[in-house]
Amino acid sequence: MRPSTACPAGTTDYDVIIVGGGPVGLLLACLLKQQGLRLRVLERRAEPIAYSAAIGITPPSLQILDKLGLAAEFVARGVQVRDCLVHGQRGQLGCVSFREIPDAYRFILSLPQATTIAILQKHLGQEHVESGCEVREVRQFDQHCCVKTDEHALTARFVIACDGSRSRLRELIGMRAPVHVYDCHFAMGDFTDRSGFGEEAHLFFTEAGAVESFPLPGGQRRWIVQTETHLDHPPRGLVSELIKKRTGLDIPAADQLSESAFTPRKFNCARYDEGRIILCGDAAHVMSPIGGQGMNTGFADAEFLAAILCQADPRKWLPAYNHFRRKAAQTAIIRAEWGMWLGTRRGKAPSLLRDVLLKFLLRQKPVARHMGSFYAMLTIPFNTLKQVPLTSLQPRQI
Ligand SMILES: Cc1cc2nc3c(=O)[nH]c(=O)nc-3n(C[C@H](O)[C@H](O)[C@H](O)COP(=O)(O)OP(=O)(O)OC[C@H]3O[C@@H](n4cnc5c(N)ncnc54)[C@H](O)[C@@H]3O)c2cc1C
Repeated sequence: MRPSTACPAGTTDYDVIIVGGGPVGLLLACLLKQQGLRLRVLERRAEPIAYSAAIGITPPSLQILDKLGLAAEFVARGVQVRDCLVHGQRGQLGCVSFREIPDAYRFILSLPQATTIAILQKHLGQEHVESGCEVREVRQFDQHCCVKTDEHALTARFVIACDGSRSRLRELIGMRAPVHVYDCHFAMGDFTDRSGFGEEAHLFFTEAGAVESFPLPGGQRRWIVQTETHLDHPPRGLVSELIKKRTGLDIPAADQLSESAFTPRKFNCARYDEGRIILCGDAAHVMSPIGGQGMNTGFADAEFLAAILCQADPRKWLPAYNHFRRKAAQTAIIRAEWGMWLGTRRGKAPSLLRDVLLKFLLRQKPVARHMGSFYAMLTIPFNTLKQVPLTSLQPRQI
């Protein structure tokens, strides 16, 4: 017999229902499980993701994963990027090093998003996740919310929208996401790595456009190239062709294992909550992937939210969640935008100016050291809950 799709009244099925089992939803679920809350993750996908969007995991995120005892497993499965070499039109400009950043983790970890999801899912346990289950409707009442899928209706004290940048829940509660689409486009491919670059990241800023390259586990490497326009399906061989033209490097198209394209967007919702429905991760904010901060910002949202959802009345703490997490996301959005702007200026004069500026900055030791902390997200305000001043964490009357 199919379960009822009517909204049951009375006691709630769960403390928290998380809509979306992406990296942020699963991390939040793991943190809530650790606190002993009754939870359920509803995920539309029936199969694991086939692509590897987010790869860069920063030190603050590793500290959050450490709370679950998972940092060591993440580190063991990823590649530790300690140096990022920056090249201009006329050769190497300098190096952003993470070797001296003031943190226990002195590297950016590179790990495909699919592996991040798999580790979190295994830690959480399959019994807390319902896959192939799309949420169609959500309603809220005084004491609880009701979530409807094609199969059933479930109740919980709070519903967390971790359903990504095109969040259906955000739409259902009428929350506006003021999306800005950048006039900047990229094609991307993961390759079998024969570059000889080892564990280094390389950024090439050229007159004709940017080329970025990051190591991946399993002897692979990601290459990202700036393109003229948005391409739904980049033609096979395009990434290799643009790398060759701009850098002179031979990266054979035959070594390419995956291809995709993206046009960065940004938004930061004015509020992250509407009553008992709370936005988290890409559902709340989106930034340019150039800079590798979106998932990391979502991880810090999840950490904050996990801490308040186990309070007696979490709603009293939501103003603090809104304030601190919006501010952190806004900083990351602006930094990603500036980084992308600087790296993607084309033409002789802008390229020459950029070369001079970056060469000068990267040769100043204190600046170069600060850049390591900057790109490792150590200088994002409130990058973990530990950085939030306790005095400002006061519950508000509602
Ligand atoms: C090319 C690229 C590279 C990137 N690199 C980095 C990087 O290096 N570092 C970094 O920090 N970030 C990076 N990002 C950003 C990162 O991928 C996102 O910030 C991250 O995926 C957000 O996670 P999330 O869990 O909030 O949302 P998502 O990953 O989008 O997950 C949302 C989940 O919700 C599910 N869902 C949606 N609607 C419903 C529904 N109605 N019912 C049930 N389930 C639903 C979806 O199936 C999905 O599994 C990159 C992004 C791109 C595009």
